[in-house]
Amino acid sequence: MEKEPLLMLPGPVPVPERVRAAMVRQAINHRGAEFGAAYAACVATLKKLFGTNNDLFVISGSGTAGMEAAVGNFGRNRKMVSLINGKFGERLWKIGERYGNVTAVPSDWGTPLNLAALESALEEGAEVVTMVHNETSAGIRNPAQEVGRMTRKYDALFIMDGVTSIGGDLVEVDKWGVDVAIVGSQKCLAAPAGLAALSVSRRAWERIGKELPYYLDLAAYRKNAANSPMETPYTPAVPLFLALKEACAIIEEEGIENRVHRHRQMARAVRAAAGAWGLPLFPKTDAVHAYSETVSAICIPEGISDKDLRGTVKKLGIEIAGGQDHLKGKIFRIGHMGAVGAPELIATLGAVQYTLRKCGLKPQDDGVMAACEVLG
Ligand SMILES: *Cc1c(COP(=O)(O)O)cnc(C)c1O
Repeated sequence: MEKEPLLMLPGPVPVPERVRAAMVRQAINHRGAEFGAAYAACVATLKKLFGTNNDLFVISGSGTAGMEAAVGNFGRNRKMVSLINGKFGERLWKIGERYGNVTAVPSDWGTPLNLAALESALEEGAEVVTMVHNETSAGIRNPAQEVGRMTRKYDALFIMDGVTSIGGDLVEVDKWGVDVAIVGSQKCLAAPAGLAALSVSRRAWERIGKELPYYLDLAAYRKNAANSPMETPYTPAVPLFLALKEACAIIEEEGIENRVHRHRQMARAVRAAAGAWGLPLFPKTDAVHAYSETVSAICIPEGISDKDLRGTVKKLGIEIAGGQDHLKGKIFRIGHMGAVGAPELIATLGAVQYTLRKCGLKPQDDGVMAACEVLG
């Protein structure tokens, strides 16, 4: 039997055995009590991870379906502004273009967002702001609190993609003033791919669009969630909900504080390893922008190709991510999110260090040692 590769990607991530087992069973009626209870259990845990008392729904579709639901319900025919410093910020802007009137506020990928340009757009009457909290493509964490404060000051709605922060890093939707936050199942939640969840604030409900999408009509989600048993408007991806319920049970067992701490330790360990190797991290941070706690983007050194780097690591049974779009060949990314911990991370860093040496690079120092010092 060939061993399954270890996925150290920023999604999909390895899914714990208990979560996989939860899906393998006979079909159940999605209008019945068992489904309703599973949906309610997911919502209860997700609200804690989002840091919210707002309404929260789980939809059948990947993270991008969640992004489209947010923009389609609250951004249509409104003046939107999209903050961009990576691929997913760009995706929210592109979704905005399908629904109406959106202005992009771009920065180079992995560099700080242009908050001064955001403020000008708000002064000029922008009604909806989109931002990616943890920009997976560049390994940078964007300033949700600052953007939340600014959108409140100008009474705009704040849509935040928390797809790779919620469930791994600390998120405080209510404290930060996030009106719509989004998560995807195959990232920090360590569940199978195919579900997204969204929280919706009261301010957002007051401004919900007049023309809503059909399949992703969140007013319909709200109406059906109020039924007893709790329901979704159409047939949901039931096996995935059962898996997500188990993933949420694991999260409750670990405790959110411990989970955030584990992710931060892993991030520190990777950064220590990169430092020991003498490889720069890709993002440019400042007082409010930080390195991601769930995915690390590291510059590929001269003399090594992306293919050699990731190919050699893959031969050792571990998959790490490359750069996307124009960053292909320039960076590699290690996902450290979900259920993984020290053993998976040490193996990954060992494989990368071996690869650097094999490709003729002389890393300054022992990155695996440096990481173990953090994790030990
Ligand atoms: C993965 C990801 C998404 C959603 O991608 P899907 O492939 O649709 O799940 C959205 N935003 C960010 C920041 C992501 O990392």
